[in-house]
Amino acid sequence: MTASSMEELVSLCKRRGFIFQSNDIYGGIKGLYDYGPMGVELKNNLKQAWWKSMIYERDDIEGLDASILSAPVVLQQSGHEDTFTDPLVDCKNCKSRWRADQLSDKKCPECKSDNLTEPRPFNLMFKTAIGPVDDGSSFAYLRPETCQQIFTNFKNIIDSTSRVVPFGIAQIGKAFRNEITPRNFIFRVREFEQMELEFFVKPGSDEEWHKYWVEKRIKWWESQGVNKKNLHTVDVDKSELSHYSKATVDIMYDFPHGKEELEGIANRTDFDLGSHTKNQKDFDIAANVKKNEHSTTKLGVQNLEEKTSFIPYVIEPSAGVDRGVLAILNEAFTNEEIANGNSRIVLKLKPHLSPIKAAVIPLKKNNDQIVEKAKKIKTQLQNLGLGRVMLENSGNIGKNYRRHDEIGTPICVTVDFETLEDDSVTIRDRDSMNQERVLIKDLNQFYQKYFH
Ligand code: ATP
Repeated sequence: MTASSMEELVSLCKRRGFIFQSNDIYGGIKGLYDYGPMGVELKNNLKQAWWKSMIYERDDIEGLDASILSAPVVLQQSGHEDTFTDPLVDCKNCKSRWRADQLSDKKCPECKSDNLTEPRPFNLMFKTAIGPVDDGSSFAYLRPETCQQIFTNFKNIIDSTSRVVPFGIAQIGKAFRNEITPRNFIFRVREFEQMELEFFVKPGSDEEWHKYWVEKRIKWWESQGVNKKNLHTVDVDKSELSHYSKATVDIMYDFPHGKEELEGIANRTDFDLGSHTKNQKDFDIAANVKKNEHSTTKLGVQNLEEKTSFIPYVIEPSAGVDRGVLAILNEAFTNEEIANGNSRIVLKLKPHLSPIKAAVIPLKKNNDQIVEKAKKIKTQLQNLGLGRVMLENSGNIGKNYRRHDEIGTPICVTVDFETLEDDSVTIRDRDSMNQERVLIKDLNQFYQKYFH
């Protein structure tokens, strides 16, 4: 089941501490959101799952965590200074601004006037001053995608790890885009996170690898609990390809506001490494790479058989963390009928994504013996290292169950008077709501089963 509207998700996110409007107490800033106590856990768990699937479960990908502030020359060479733009129009009537390609009827969405300016390119990159003098002479860009520093570190990584193609470099981190019309909650924001892999391959094998990564990435989203029927692929039309791309497949998801891009998988050819390399004439590179007079480093690799060097092609699966969180919340959101004509909201998250892995609830909050026992159980489960275990102390068991259903906690462990006599606890399963008695000595095993 999914949410019936975006409002339903926004309301749950605020009520239960997943996501808040940023700068809320001052009226908020459009296009910025903060992740609360539950949101930060969910987001970290999603990023961890991606990292695990890219780095730990494979043997051909290295990790990187590079700087956000980027030298202008990097984004000149990457083509972003010239082409990273959206078409901007002004409404002459109410003075609002819009992205021309998002206006379906060529009218201002605010006042419905058709008195709009001609579209003009608006560069989406944020700039900031570097150093103590802000006279415009020394500035950096906040990176609009995480991958450029993967390309600029390509030689460092090859030299320090002895990698040969095919191999990849993966990174998770913030990216910034001055979107003209941020909207749809965390779907289109100005500060967001990306999970990007740059997978370097021999030219000629690129199309096969492109297909491979499209399939892999769809399977991964499914393994995070996204229903196959809500995922779609679209071959981006040639006329809409980014300047660096030979072919792009977008993975689209049925978000509450409509079908839109969750992840893009591009064949970036040798455009980026070619544009950042020294002595470009030594290589047989694509015609559209930017001429480079600044780079200090050759970014080619050896072809051992032919004793030549070449610039690898790169396949890039680029996923948005925030769009991923939104898709996963939507997929998990369930409003279901339970006994006696009642209903409940429950987040049926995959346990590895749940913000809280188990809640330990002492039945009586004023009974020292029960509370002590509950604390011990919390520590016991916490030490298994599967994520946050929460000790509840509000005492109202019904309220606790409701709250943990809504944040997607797989199990609640209740400690009561019987526990003091026979060392057993009641476990309530989130999805079935079944309750069963388990001995504390069997608890670790019982709990760990949820994560396999
Ligand atoms: P869109 O067409 O929706 O603007 P894009 O094609 O510009 O997206 P890419 O440059 O391919 O996006 O970026 C890769 C991924 O980064 C996207 O698939 C998306 O998940 C995420 N992303 C891009 N822009 C934003 C944004 N403004 N807010 C949240 N996530 C974003």
